[in-house]
Amino acid sequence: MSKVLIIGAGGVGNVVAHQCARRPEIAVTLASRTVAKCDAIAAKIRAHTGREIATARVNADDVPALTALIKKEQPDIVINVALPYQDLPIMDACLATRTAYLDTANYEPPTEAKFEYKWQWAYRERFAQAGVTAILGCGFDPGQSNLYCAYARDEIFSTIETIDIVDCNAGNHGHAFATNFNPEINIREITQPGRYWERGEWKTIPPLSQSEVFDFPEVGERKMYLLYHEEEESLVQNIPGLQRIRFWMTFGDEYLTHLRVLQNVGLTSITPVKFEGRDIVPLKFLQALLPDPGSLSDNYTGKTSIGCLIEGVKKDGARGKCLIYNVCDHARCHRETGAQAVSYTTGVPAALGAELYLRGVWKRAGVWNVEQLPNAEFMAAVGDRGLPWQVKWY
Ligand code: NDP
Repeated sequence: MSKVLIIGAGGVGNVVAHQCARRPEIAVTLASRTVAKCDAIAAKIRAHTGREIATARVNADDVPALTALIKKEQPDIVINVALPYQDLPIMDACLATRTAYLDTANYEPPTEAKFEYKWQWAYRERFAQAGVTAILGCGFDPGQSNLYCAYARDEIFSTIETIDIVDCNAGNHGHAFATNFNPEINIREITQPGRYWERGEWKTIPPLSQSEVFDFPEVGERKMYLLYHEEEESLVQNIPGLQRIRFWMTFGDEYLTHLRVLQNVGLTSITPVKFEGRDIVPLKFLQALLPDPGSLSDNYTGKTSIGCLIEGVKKDGARGKCLIYNVCDHARCHRETGAQAVSYTTGVPAALGAELYLRGVWKRAGVWNVEQLPNAEFMAAVGDRGLPWQVKWY
């Protein structure tokens, strides 16, 4: 039997733990800062699947404590679904114990809202020399989006010229303002300047300043905004011949109005302010007021529709433009795992990626973005795991 250690008992951790527990050949330990959250997920898994999982308390910033937990549990792979701040300490503990690593979001320094792969790519040599695998960005976007591009590169196109990753959540959770994954990380991401890559150069635009309307499958027309997203950085390197890559996400007017007001009053800032004699970070305070993303699923209706719009020259020599996409229903995800579709679409690829590692398909010493790994098994299996994909031609 193989064993996974999942770190982070939030919305995504719940889905990864459910998915792994559904594989009888995988034993699961779920660890987080707050062990009560792990125990609550273990009870849900018992109710949904009849399986028992182990739980543990760990602060993943504490490398010696995490190293001790890994030595005790002896997992084959650590699945990091805590926050991006924990990526480097968890990679350090994995190196110290020669244990494989997988995550869904790249490292961000807590004091600067800036995400880049450079910090994690700096571990390439050490993982390669230790003979240990690290798999980066294996959620939906990054993750399944990278694998759609890799599949298009290997199976459909001889040259990919442009990629537009289009991400729509057309769901309704009934709250005036809430984020679908960790509020602090989400708000840091969308309030950054937009950035895209064209003909060898990165271009920067003011936050949320460029929008287009796109007709999303099973959802219809929605306004989407250009953002910077981390998979652009690795896909630029791993899709030969690429001329432009952009990332777009839909936001409703109500959401953007709330965000603008919160920004205007300073509540999205990560610079500490003095409040009644102590330092507080406004964004962390805001997070404490907002709904926990893991709690949103109860009455969530509607669907996510996320895909990669890819244009170039096909293998038969003709030009072509297609959308490779998945549509996911919030209510179905809730019935299956007690999670909404944003947590679900992140957790399913993470669990499948870990399973591909355990089966040897993704076992390779070094640090890898998922488009550098074989994509056929992933694309063949991910539909059965809950995220079927389709190709629409234009
Ligand atoms: P949540 O905030 O719901 O959960 C995060 C969990 O991590 C919490 O249980 C929290 O602790 C735990 N945690 C935080 N710090 C530590 C620490 N130092 N040690 C141990 N555990 C810690 O976030 P989500 O589940 O929504 O998101 C999880 C990750 O998934 C994030 O990194 C996010 O960026 C990523 N993500 C990726 C996506 C993709 O498509 N690639 C999409 C959506 C999210 P505690 O137990 O105290 O609550």
